Amino acid sequence: MIYLPAAGNSDPEADLHPAILSQGVLVVDDNHVQRANIRASLEAFGIHRIHEAADGASALQRYRSLPVRPAVVVLDLELPGLDGIEVLQRLGDDRHRPAIIVASAADEVLISAVATMVEALGVPLLGAFRKPVPTAALRAALAAFGHQASSVLHAAAPVTEIDPAELHQAIRTGQIRPFYQPKISLQQGSLEGLEALARWTDRAGNSIPPSRFIALAEQHGLIGELTLALLDRVLQDMVQWQAQGLQPAVAINLSATSLVDRNLASDILRQVQAAAISPRRVSFEITETALVADLASALATMSRLRLKGFGFSIDDYGTGFSSMQQLSRFPFTELKIDRTFVHGASRRDQMRTILQSAIDMGRRLGITTVAEGVETEAELHLLKAMGCRQAQGYLIARPMPAAQVSDWIHHRASAVAQLCLQPSTMPS
Ligand code: C2E
Ligand code: CA
Ligand code: CA
Repeated sequence: MIYLPAAGNSDPEADLHPAILSQGVLVVDDNHVQRANIRASLEAFGIHRIHEAADGASALQRYRSLPVRPAVVVLDLELPGLDGIEVLQRLGDDRHRPAIIVASAADEVLISAVATMVEALGVPLLGAFRKPVPTAALRAALAAFGHQASSVLHAAAPVTEIDPAELHQAIRTGQIRPFYQPKISLQQGSLEGLEALARWTDRAGNSIPPSRFIALAEQHGLIGELTLALLDRVLQDMVQWQAQGLQPAVAINLSATSLVDRNLASDILRQVQAAAISPRRVSFEITETALVADLASALATMSRLRLKGFGFSIDDYGTGFSSMQQLSRFPFTELKIDRTFVHGASRRDQMRTILQSAIDMGRRLGITTVAEGVETEAELHLLKAMGCRQAQGYLIARPMPAAQVSDWIHHRASAVAQLCLQPSTMPS
């Protein structure tokens, strides 16, 4: 076995998710003996809606044409014609994405790389194995379905396109608000700050996630206005907390494209000064700086804000464009390690190596390292043992409205601190 998501969480005895039984499984392998073996195991688990394909092209065709799309695809990588990796990429482009189990004869390093790719594509991965896949491993992977594959189920809900004019209206009428997610120190367990994450509640009361409107705002030149509107709300919240004796630092996500806006630094500074909040308590998290076309302007914006005391974090470090080169070019004060590495580290050696080198890099550069997406105690203790400074994630707290923050600080924060302080029971 190479990879099982959240190992230990997937109880092989747990009932299979009803979607697996009702939607079925597609088995893709050019070897009919392998297909027959997997079919026999699936049948033994009580799954009867089983489809088969012997090559990549017919697998895609089959998957897309079935009236009820299979919930899970068991996929061989070495396939004639379109190979398994191409199949995964094409499935990643679909709105309906099945959960994936990779079964391959390739070496472990390669399978592990493909597993990372699947996660980066945003396709739920239940497991990645060397063939022949042991029946128990297949069962455990399927048992992880409910945990991993909520996106498969949610994908069934139709997504309507958002009208940019409607988004603009939402920004102006204050429908977009920050939710806050705590960052804590792994050494002390103390609250180190909050990250503001944009949430749009439309008039009908529906909550629209940032994945649906940030890119849209960027494309239609609305992102600057959105950022300043959100900053305004954040500053109001900070003033309120201050009145209650709380002074958390807050980080705001900033699109790299905004950095080239020559007015941005002055606009930000004016708002922060008007609220009488110290710039030292405000920082910005930035991704994909490599995409910045006008490097000189971006560096000017960042340097001006840094001089005033604002911090800058390189977000999603380790993925895509957040590379080492970006770290050397821009004056970052914090390195935020992408959650793919955080999740992967406890299960895969390569991921752990990358995680350790990111932590070491931050230490050598003298900047804070933060791990995002921490969901289990095992991850928390591993990060602490590896020398990471701060952590954030669902284990600590989910993003919450401003009104819940003081309650969290007063009633939940100490239990979270205990998690960091108690000795690890996990081998590190
Ligand atoms: P991000 O900056 O990497 O933020 C982390 C995302 O991971 C957030 O999703 C957060 O809710 C989620 N998350 C936190 N802890 C966990 C965990 O333990 N497990 C998992 N699976 N997820 C976790 P969210 O709020 O949907 O935001 C998505 C992205 O949208 C953000 O990614 C950020 O890039 C962007 N975004 C959010 N607000 C803004 C904004 O005001 N401006 C800009 N430019 N981008 C924003
Ligand atoms: Ca962020
Ligand atoms: Ca991130």
